Amino acid sequence: MSTVSIKCTKAQIDDLFKRYAMAEKRKTPAYAYWQIKLSDCVITAYESGKVVFQGDGAEFHSASYQKEPLKSSTSNHKAIGYPQCGSDEVGTGDYFGPVCVCAAYVDEDRAEWLKSLGIQDSKAMKDEIILAIGAQLMERLPHSLLILDNSTYNRIHNQYNMVAIKCKLHNQAFVHLKHKLNELPKDIIVDQFVKGESYYRYLRQEKEVIYNIHFETKAENKYLAVAAASVIARYAFLKAFEAMCSTYQFPFLKGASAKVDQNIATFVKLHGKAALYKVAKLHFANTKKAGVSSENF
Ligand code: MG
Repeated sequence: MSTVSIKCTKAQIDDLFKRYAMAEKRKTPAYAYWQIKLSDCVITAYESGKVVFQGDGAEFHSASYQKEPLKSSTSNHKAIGYPQCGSDEVGTGDYFGPVCVCAAYVDEDRAEWLKSLGIQDSKAMKDEIILAIGAQLMERLPHSLLILDNSTYNRIHNQYNMVAIKCKLHNQAFVHLKHKLNELPKDIIVDQFVKGESYYRYLRQEKEVIYNIHFETKAENKYLAVAAASVIARYAFLKAFEAMCSTYQFPFLKGASAKVDQNIATFVKLHGKAALYKVAKLHFANTKKAGVSSENF
């Protein structure tokens, strides 16, 4: 059981009360406005502005009040409104685990819903929260999710570098989304990882290419479609990571730090080199640092 205590404005406290209008009302403690009980959390709002969340769902229910949710994208970029679609990727900085790319579609109604959930860049959200809401996002938002498993990644990495692979995946995600929706909205945003010209250069061989993309760095902080895509991609990555840990009964580490080198050496000792091909991105310097030769996989 956890406890989260945050400071809220009176408007936020009223908003919270309205949001849980159906919840059981409890006897109001001293110096409090109210106390309500949900299945996984008790919430108490005090006259001082302090709001206390207690229970397993404390993180989840307080999430959207802990940080200011993303404003409408129009406040940052006048030309871009709703509907919009955006894409982002996860896993490219992690030695272990797949690369997940998602393109998601958000219209005005869905944007309001995402704001009420406190959706923002997945890097700013805790993994537990992403695991708690990822499935809902996948259900409610039209999206295309691509998961490039490690064996495939290692095989194609001989031919294409990471940037080329990302370009192909982002494009493919938008192509799939276009087929789902019949047509993409006019505003298409990619969290920029390469200049627009290079992006299209990498796609020269592709059968179908989505054009008129707006490339912007840190787009996951500015556009809800990109933020939502980053959360879905992270959700898929976390699920795949959990599955890997359970398949191998091994505590894989995220990231690519020196601790990961140690983790690699232990994994190879237990499961052998061939298994590493299926769970890691072998071209990372970590492979060598762990003392594993990159030959004969
Ligand atoms: Mg990104």
